[in-house]
Amino acid sequence: MARKIRRARVTPGWHEQAACKGVDHWVFCNDEAEQRDGEPRPPYSDEDAKSYCAGCPVISECREEALRMRDFFMTRGGMNEDELRAEHHRRQRTSAA
Ligand code: SF4
Repeated sequence: MARKIRRARVTPGWHEQAACKGVDHWVFCNDEAEQRDGEPRPPYSDEDAKSYCAGCPVISECREEALRMRDFFMTRGGMNEDELRAEHHRRQRTSAA
């Protein structure tokens, strides 16, 4: 009898559909991140990043990946780093209850 292999649920190629594809990654970096070459950060705000996310067709996939991978260092899925951390902690509390 053949065994069934359970595979993780993924959305193949969702990164290709990202609204931020090709956009300067500094738009999404948090305020503390510094450029490696010591140059000052470009003056992007949270709202700049969130404006891309708001119209992104893969916002859910992106947010869930960030939460699953604990990638809280950039704005992803329409949430900045603080919001991602808060959502992560909220889910931890909910699953522990
Ligand atoms: S939700 Fe935001 S960060 Fe994520 S892929 Fe879309 S535009 Fe990029």
